[in-house]
Amino acid sequence: GQTIGIIGGGQLGRMMAMAAKQMGYRIAVLEPGQDSPCGQVADYVIEAPYDDREAAKKLAKISDVITYEFENIDSETATWLTEEADFPQGADVLRFTQHRLLEKETIQSVGIPVAPFHAIHSIEDVEGAIEEIGFPAVLKTCRGGYDGKGQRVVKDEKQLTEAASELLNQSECVLEAWIPFSLELSVIVTRSRNGETAVFPVAENDHKDNILHRSYVPARVNDQVIEEAKRIALTLVTELNVVGTLAVELFMLEDGRLYVNELAPRPHNSGHYSIEACVTSQFEQHIRAVCGLPLGSTDLLRPVIMENILGEHVEMIMQGLPKLSEAKLHLYGKAEAKEKRKMGHLTVTAESLEEAERQLERVMKE
Ligand code: ATP
Ligand code: MG
Ligand code: MG
Repeated sequence: GQTIGIIGGGQLGRMMAMAAKQMGYRIAVLEPGQDSPCGQVADYVIEAPYDDREAAKKLAKISDVITYEFENIDSETATWLTEEADFPQGADVLRFTQHRLLEKETIQSVGIPVAPFHAIHSIEDVEGAIEEIGFPAVLKTCRGGYDGKGQRVVKDEKQLTEAASELLNQSECVLEAWIPFSLELSVIVTRSRNGETAVFPVAENDHKDNILHRSYVPARVNDQVIEEAKRIALTLVTELNVVGTLAVELFMLEDGRLYVNELAPRPHNSGHYSIEACVTSQFEQHIRAVCGLPLGSTDLLRPVIMENILGEHVEMIMQGLPKLSEAKLHLYGKAEAKEKRKMGHLTVTAESLEEAERQLERVMKE
């Protein structure tokens, strides 16, 4: 059988690996941490830093094709893999999804709107930037942020200079306008190495403290918004020559206008609902795409809510299990249930979103 190499050992890698194993593939994972969520289900584990060249060579030697579960792969490793291994997703998409400023410029270059933004390379850039953007605004590091880490909402000059002097220590930054969205949406789109594309149903996402709390599918928006969200995702994946999975996070204004917030070149938390609620999951689709198999149907089987289980929720969930017989329980095998850490998720499919919500509410108290 064929072996798929995965860079990164987190829960996204784990769910990719589980989908791949169901299709008869073997899995090798490159991950520095011991006993990682993906390492636990992989056939081979290479325990080394992501930028270790010898480790990348070893992964390439035992794998027929290589993919990744996170976008912060250093560019030299990505280039080496593109030249020396079968790495169908290539280095290009990693370059612009690793860097918010480049990402926004790239999205704009294919005619898709993003929130007004301005580069902040040094503290001197702040004044000119805020004149253009206005308050309230959000200052974000260009590199390395996730779950709201590396960003600050700023309402006046004082907050802005404080935030800039702090965040500029981490990386260059981008100042963007605060978007008074009425909803957040996301779309996951897949493009196979043969050029075939497929787009998943649009998810409506509810965040708490900048961390995804719930996804509702189908999103409760009108058909034009759904069509436009899908058009944006398909435009990005084809115009930018993306192979594999692209997750597109969107802001929707009251009037239905959409702005892209950010991209992720991999399966996404807001697509976990697809495991139970779609004919093909985002993970199976990703494996099909990088292995060159035909893509599967993305049809939604039933309305669905996915809810994340963070460290502070685990105990409540385990106590509530008797009442959760209609939910699907996913746990990622992480040892320590730290606060805010994503430990697993619940998926409830039902006749309607209202019914799914009632089932969740029996256990998940705010
Ligand atoms: P992740 O990668 O985990 O999704 P992140 O740290 O990269 O998160 P963003 O997606 O940029 O952060 O922002 C996190 C959340 O903060 C958004 O989902 C949204 O709720 C809010 N947010 C970010 N930027 C803006 C903005 N310009 N206007 C309004 N809300 C925003
Ligand atoms: Mg992000
Ligand atoms: Mg985000």
